[in-house]
Amino acid sequence: MSRTLVWWSTGAASFVAAQLTLRENPNAIVARCETGNEDPDNYRFEADAMRRLNATVTLLRSTEYTDVWDVWQKRRYMAGIAGAPCTSAMKIAPRLEFQRPTDVHVFGYTADQKDVERFELLKANYFELTVRAPLIEAGITKAASLAMVERAGLALPRSYAMGFPNANCLKTGCVKATSPDYWSLYRFHFPENFARTAAYAREIGARLTRIKDERVFIDEIPADWPMTAPIVPACDFLCHIAQQNIEEAA
Ligand code: SF4
Repeated sequence: MSRTLVWWSTGAASFVAAQLTLRENPNAIVARCETGNEDPDNYRFEADAMRRLNATVTLLRSTEYTDVWDVWQKRRYMAGIAGAPCTSAMKIAPRLEFQRPTDVHVFGYTADQKDVERFELLKANYFELTVRAPLIEAGITKAASLAMVERAGLALPRSYAMGFPNANCLKTGCVKATSPDYWSLYRFHFPENFARTAAYAREIGARLTRIKDERVFIDEIPADWPMTAPIVPACDFLCHIAQQNIEEAA
């Protein structure tokens, strides 16, 4: 029998995707790959959201690694030309193990142009999957999804107010982000976590960011570096494609 999997990301858009899907199909499975690396407030939002939806999250875990940090330590690699091993270990492998060819995959892509393009890219790259984006179908933008979460009586994850474009892996910072603005913002809000990630990047020689076309360590970002354009790629099905685009643009 075909299953419907809603890919839950602990964000506003995936809340609306889950809400719309569960209304249509109460047996839909709300699933998330557990990285062990999320901000505590994401887990608070997840608990609130699931109570509101009267649903539970099916957590998909790596059988090899406990969390993102464990992947980096065992592989002694954080990110680079070969991508970020945490994505494949913590997100891609558990998903491949869980999914079945007959599944319908539901995503929280919004009706904003960039998300629409991203969904088109996903369809082109995963033509073998049956995929849906209920927010695009209903014309719901990101701004509208934020309002819908608030109307549902839920407090958004704190990362939105902090200015992060997405809340992935805030316990360490996302190593796929090469934007110095992102790391400057991350250092501002999470100085201790930043110091830990920066020290390990030094230890293994991972120059995670780029300033004036030069790869540098994140602890070389000047203290007064702006935080105005904190670009961080989404870590989803299109992760490896996003990585390629970053490297090509660099
Ligand atoms: S969000 Fe970033 S740090 Fe987290 S698993 Fe994906 S690539 Fe790794």
